[in-house]
Amino acid sequence: MKPTETLTYDFIIVGAGSAGAVLANRLSENSQNKVLLIEAGPASNIWSRIPIGYVKTLNNPDVNWRYWAEPEESTRGRRLYVPRGKVLGGTSTINGMAFVRGQAQDFDTWAQMGNSGWSYQDLLPLFRRMESYADGADEFRGNNGPLRVTNPVPSDPLYKSLIAAAQEVGIRHNSDYNGASQDGIAMSQASIAGGRRMSTAHCYLDPIRRRPNLRVVTHALTEQVLLEGRRCVGVRYTVDGVSHTARSNRDVIVSAGSVNSPQLLELSGIGQPERLKALGIEVRQELGGVGENLRDHYAPRTRWGISAKGYTFNDRGRGVGLINQALRYLISQDGMLSMVAAPIRAFVFSREGLTTPDLLLGWVPMLYEPGPKLSEQSGMTCYAHPMRPESKGNIHAVSADPRQPPAINYNFLSAAPDADLTIKAIRIARSIMNANALVSLGVTELAPGAELTRDDEILDWIKDVGETTYHPVGTCKMGTDDMAVVDPQLCVRGFQGLRVADASIMPTLTSGNTNAPAIMIGEKASDLVLAAQSA
Ligand SMILES: Cc1cc2nc3c(=O)[nH]c(=O)nc-3n(C[C@H](O)[C@H](O)[C@H](O)COP(=O)(O)OP(=O)(O)OC[C@H]3O[C@@H](n4cnc5c(N)ncnc54)[C@H](O)[C@@H]3O)c2cc1C
Repeated sequence: MKPTETLTYDFIIVGAGSAGAVLANRLSENSQNKVLLIEAGPASNIWSRIPIGYVKTLNNPDVNWRYWAEPEESTRGRRLYVPRGKVLGGTSTINGMAFVRGQAQDFDTWAQMGNSGWSYQDLLPLFRRMESYADGADEFRGNNGPLRVTNPVPSDPLYKSLIAAAQEVGIRHNSDYNGASQDGIAMSQASIAGGRRMSTAHCYLDPIRRRPNLRVVTHALTEQVLLEGRRCVGVRYTVDGVSHTARSNRDVIVSAGSVNSPQLLELSGIGQPERLKALGIEVRQELGGVGENLRDHYAPRTRWGISAKGYTFNDRGRGVGLINQALRYLISQDGMLSMVAAPIRAFVFSREGLTTPDLLLGWVPMLYEPGPKLSEQSGMTCYAHPMRPESKGNIHAVSADPRQPPAINYNFLSAAPDADLTIKAIRIARSIMNANALVSLGVTELAPGAELTRDDEILDWIKDVGETTYHPVGTCKMGTDDMAVVDPQLCVRGFQGLRVADASIMPTLTSGNTNAPAIMIGEKASDLVLAAQSA
């Protein structure tokens, strides 16, 4: 591709992920707005639409940045894998498709931190606007939005038994954890409908690709945002090694995700001066918070053998069973190939006296080995972790070359409550798996192993095996304090015409998975940008 003449747009969006695709849609609704959407990855992949395809994209360099975190004490020096989508739809095109908003309290906390306009009452209309919920609208849910969300019924005997087991230990069944309250065990709501993945590429971009005022460029790596004085005026990006520039009249919106957004700001001269100077990058603005405040869910996967036959993917997902599942998927678009990554989950309390749950358990009806590949043995996996960890890490560029991956330091378990709560979550998983309702399935604890009973033994095991659940947030934190990168309007502090809108702006981690809140952030950012335009 030859360098094109420098074109001018009203809005340039960097990254077509969960948030960026929403912005492209909403900002180009007005045909007077010229919008450019720049995506580093391709338009799609053959595995993008079939739900079980996430197994095939988890490690696929065509659509995945495939980052690795730095070794650290909490992982016993292991490097944790950090997959991130690199394709239209971003990580919503490769994720596990569980649909979890988080708690009202999460957003109210953001508002209390000084982010006015971000309380749950402020955001509820956006959560309702973005979805078409299969069970219909009510005061919490919407049925008229671009993103189709389904709520499977627990018809499978394995899930019915798990719900009964949870009820035995005092955990209620909750038919809508995205409704009035989150607590309880439930089938996972999913951004899956008709047996197809509902990515933001499919739901927000496909219907509008013919808009003449929207240009989408794929395979395009944005290398810098262009700054003139206190104003951002455009971006520089490369396609096939050829450099291009695009100018913006109003806003450049960085939606490159929690790993790449801070990296792009640093490459553009915005961040911690000493760090930038060490990389030979000219300092344009000191902002100490760029790349800091990294949070994620660090979750050990407990493993359970099941001796009763025919219940798990290990039994049903190979040989004749797999053929049956494939036929079932082709004929009725359901079964295990249309499955959300963890089909059943429980939001539970670590102790009495809490007003909202603080732990998450998620079950996968299979045992797997690294790869991931199916184990020979039949069983289940249950990840268990605190939902609002306090440990904070960071992500920073290590080179001025935009093709070099940044360094990811999690510092997991550095805040004492995180270790205690993870141990507690494992103990609750044990109590459910050992309940009478599951006895007939012949459940045995494989890991951590019933012989590990003391807290210190369990913590050792957590450090040996913990992985993330792939929810990095917070590296371009929204706020009003010195470490804030963006203000509550999502404007990068110190500049006009430059915003960040993606999971990186979350000041704290939401209680659950992060796709729904990232899409909400795209909706909120669109409102903020359009309000500023019409002011
Ligand atoms: C394997 C996996 C499973 C997950 N499962 C779930 C789940 O079940 N439910 C859930 O809610 N959440 C899940 N998540 C997390 C969730 O999907 C993400 O938090 C969310 O998609 C993040 O959205 P975002 O807009 O911040 O970034 P992204 O969606 O990652 O978008 C960023 C986009 O910017 C592009 N980009 C980056 N840098 C540049 C550049 N320099 N130039 C141009 N383009 C660039 C990227 O290629 C990408 O398309 C999962 C994540 C992973 C990795």
